[in-house]
Amino acid sequence: LYNQVQDLKGNIRVYCRVRPFKPGQSNTLSSVDHMDEKTITILTHSKNGKEARKAFTFNKVFGPSVTQAEVFFDMQPLVRSVLDGYNVCIFAYGQTGSGKTHTMTGPKELTEEGLGVNYRALSDLFHISNQRKETISYDISVQMLEIYNEQVRDLLSADEIRNSSHNGINVPDANLVPVSLTSDVINLMNIGHKNRSVCSTALNDRSSRSHSCLTVHVQGRDLTSGNILRGSMHLVDLAGSERVDKSEVVGNRLKEAQHINKSLSALGDVISSLASRSSHVPYRNSKLTQLLQDSLGGQAKTLMFVHITPEYEALGETISTLKFAERVATV
Ligand code: ADP
Ligand code: MG
Repeated sequence: LYNQVQDLKGNIRVYCRVRPFKPGQSNTLSSVDHMDEKTITILTHSKNGKEARKAFTFNKVFGPSVTQAEVFFDMQPLVRSVLDGYNVCIFAYGQTGSGKTHTMTGPKELTEEGLGVNYRALSDLFHISNQRKETISYDISVQMLEIYNEQVRDLLSADEIRNSSHNGINVPDANLVPVSLTSDVINLMNIGHKNRSVCSTALNDRSSRSHSCLTVHVQGRDLTSGNILRGSMHLVDLAGSERVDKSEVVGNRLKEAQHINKSLSALGDVISSLASRSSHVPYRNSKLTQLLQDSLGGQAKTLMFVHITPEYEALGETISTLKFAERVATV
C-alpha cells in the first residue's frame, strides 16, 4: 500500500522547510510573507523599491513551528518503501545555517523530540521489519561516507576510498555495518561525526563544505518462497549551497567552493533531467551523482528537501535556493 500511494505521487518530490529565527531575533524582518501547505510566498523588493512577492509551489512546505516528528511523519511512506525493495534518495539542500543537519540529524544537544530523519528512519525500519518477521526476514546495514573536494571518504573507518569509480554508493571497500537497534545507529553516527570533525577546526568547519551520506542497505528474504528483495536508502546532508564571492576567497577555500558548486549543479541537472524525462541524464559530472547513479532515476524515489532561513538579509540565498528547488520539481 505504501508504494501504491507513493507511485501516484511520482518519483521526485520537493519539500521546503523554513527554520525559526534564532533566539532573540524574532523581531527581525522576515523574507517569508506567507506559507500554506504547498506554497511559500517570499517578500522581495522591485527595482523602484516597491514591495513585491514571489510564490513557489512544492509538494510540501513546513513552517518554523513544525516538529521533527511531524516532518518525519510525512516522509514515513517513502522510508518504508525501502522494505519493499525500492531505492530512495533523500537530499537536504540549503545554505549553511538553514537547518539541513537539524532535519537529518537533529540539534547538537540531542533529545528524544529532537531526533532527526536519520534516526527516525532507521527506528521505523526496525519497527516494521519486526512486525513482518513471521513472513520476511530482513537484514539491515549502514555505511557512512563523506565527499569532500570530489574525494570519497569512509566515515566508519579512517581510510579514504580510492576505488570509487564503481557505480552505486555501495563502494566495495567502504565499511558496511549490520544494525538492528536504534542504539547501534546512534553509536555509528557518533563514530562518523567524530571522524568527520577530525578535519574541522572552529574557523574551518569542513562539515558545511562536504556532503555526508548515510546509506541504509536492506535485504529481505521471503520465508515461504525464499525470494530475496533488496532496497537502499541514501540520506544525504549536502554541503552549504551559498555562493562564495570568488574575489574574496583564494587557495583551498576557492577550490572547495568550486567543487561544491560543481557537484550541486550536477545534482540539480540530474534531477531536473529525470523530472523532465529527458533521454540523457548527466550522471558523470560529479562524484556525488556518479555514486548515487543506481539510486537516481528508474524506479528509484527521490526527495529534494530544501531549507531556507527566514531572515531578510539572506533573501538572495533564499531566492536562489527556491529557484534550484523549482527547477527540480516535477511540473
Ligand atoms: P545547516 O546544517 O544547514 O548548516 P543547522 O542544522 O546546523 O544548519 O542549523 C543551524 C542552527 O539552527 C542550529 O543551531 C540548529 O539547531 C538551528 N535550527 C535549524 N533548524 C531548526 C528548526 N527547524 N528548529 C529549531 N532550530 C533549528
Ligand atoms: Mg550542517
